[in-house]
Amino acid sequence: MKVNSQAIRIQNHINGEWEDEVGGQYVPLRNPSTGQVIGEVPISSPETSRRAVAAAAAAFPAWKAMPLPKRMNYIHLMHQALKDNLEALAQAVAVDQGKHIAEARGEVGRVIEIVQMACAIPALIQGETIQGIANNINGRVIKAPIGVFCGVAPFNFPALVFGWFIPFAIGTGNTFVYKPSTESPLFMQKMMQLLVDIGLPKGVVNVVHGERETVEAWYDDDNVSGVCLVGSTPTAQAIAAGCGRNGKKTMLLGGAKNFLLAMEDAPMDLLIENVLMSGYGSAGQRCLAVSNIAVVPEIYDEFVERLVAASKGVRVGDATDPEVFMGPVISAKAKERIERYVDIGVAEGATLALDGRNPSVSEGNKEGYFVGPTIFTNVTPCMQIAREEIFGPVLSVIKIGCIDSALDAIRKHKLGNGACIFTQNTYYTEKFISEADVGMVGVNVGICAPHPYLPFGGIKGSLVGNNKVQGKDAIDFFTQNKVATVRIVEPGAKPAAAGNAGNGAVRSCVAS
Ligand code: NAD
Repeated sequence: MKVNSQAIRIQNHINGEWEDEVGGQYVPLRNPSTGQVIGEVPISSPETSRRAVAAAAAAFPAWKAMPLPKRMNYIHLMHQALKDNLEALAQAVAVDQGKHIAEARGEVGRVIEIVQMACAIPALIQGETIQGIANNINGRVIKAPIGVFCGVAPFNFPALVFGWFIPFAIGTGNTFVYKPSTESPLFMQKMMQLLVDIGLPKGVVNVVHGERETVEAWYDDDNVSGVCLVGSTPTAQAIAAGCGRNGKKTMLLGGAKNFLLAMEDAPMDLLIENVLMSGYGSAGQRCLAVSNIAVVPEIYDEFVERLVAASKGVRVGDATDPEVFMGPVISAKAKERIERYVDIGVAEGATLALDGRNPSVSEGNKEGYFVGPTIFTNVTPCMQIAREEIFGPVLSVIKIGCIDSALDAIRKHKLGNGACIFTQNTYYTEKFISEADVGMVGVNVGICAPHPYLPFGGIKGSLVGNNKVQGKDAIDFFTQNKVATVRIVEPGAKPAAAGNAGNGAVRSCVAS
């Protein structure tokens, strides 16, 4: 095992302090572009995880009580810190997640936009009042903070998922415990230091690294109000089961298998360009990556010919090399899994039109985890490669008779994150928008990721429960509607215990 002499020891951050996991286990952190060990990541014990929750719970009362402009000032400072450190944060994402540096900059750029949206929290949490529900009685809805939320991130979007959870959770007055993926912890290591540098009060955001047991410690912890996850569907289901028994709130985004439908009038240049970006961006490890491409017979042959030719031109290599288009997949295990799907596709009769196994890379990247662009044609929707999430740069091209058959295949799929159509026809467009059984629809865009002002999330197996991230949905998730019913008593009314609290005096059990 090659170990970099500059090895990084990833630390937890609890109650304002950086900590090693005392007596705990550590796992190696690798750069997937080189296969080299670049550091180590703690697997925090349940006890450490609960200590982080206790710190967040202790910080909650003062954070909740802080005047809103003062609390929002930290969100504005976070926004500025992200802008000032964009390049260093993007490099962190490129190094341990293996996302190509241009895309890593894009991911951090998106987080900046999300935090900009979170800066609108004072407008978004304004409650409602209704006057005169009875004589001299008014009703009022207050959007109140809830308590401690915990969040779990996947390996593939270490920055984005921070943005989806933390600015909204703390901006609305909650405190937080965050568990990054052990495969891509570097972003949060840097981001947490930035939160320390802007003076965020201790305990408001805590970070614990670890795996399943680190998360399971939260299910029976009375201090935890809710848990959010972005990850695979089985993980989302496991967290839903764990949180369900104690009635905790959950926001759980799961796996994906996205369809792209190309109709006979699809603008071909735009289509090919978008398939390359969407299919091979992040080496296909995106929840909105296109995976199944349904193409009508009129353009099938031309599409396949052009896609294979363009894919052969995709340069694979080190994620930090600006000349490269596609970086590695996350791990040796992921590479093996993806290659196993290539064998499965061949065995079930699909045509391997482009085999991306063992792509050519530079000398220094020979030990990296690379899979090149891979294309199957003559795929049918019931094949395993069309049904299961491969999460790599493998495209399945399906010849589909008409829009109804494509919509039927989308409807029958157990996952429903995103889907897109390429067409210039209004009938196809509107039909697809209304009938595609997914949470996010795109028209002539390969990646239909909604803007941060709007909710993000799938349906069916891609979302466990109802809560989505981003936009007003995030505000609803991280607040509770408290309703006050207020009777206005006319001045001069006789107090119940006359003489005790007269003349406007207020009694309180807190000694002044
Ligand atoms: P994963 O489910 O293996 O792990 C996600 C996180 O959950 C990690 O931090 C992991 O340590 C933790 N975890 C794993 N098993 C757990 C368990 N039993 N209990 C509690 N926590 C557990 O996913 P991954 O491989 O890191 O990420 C890829 C997956 O995430 C893909 O399925 C992808 O589609 C999905 N994803 C979805 C979206 C979306 O918006 N829907 C976005 C990004 C990624």
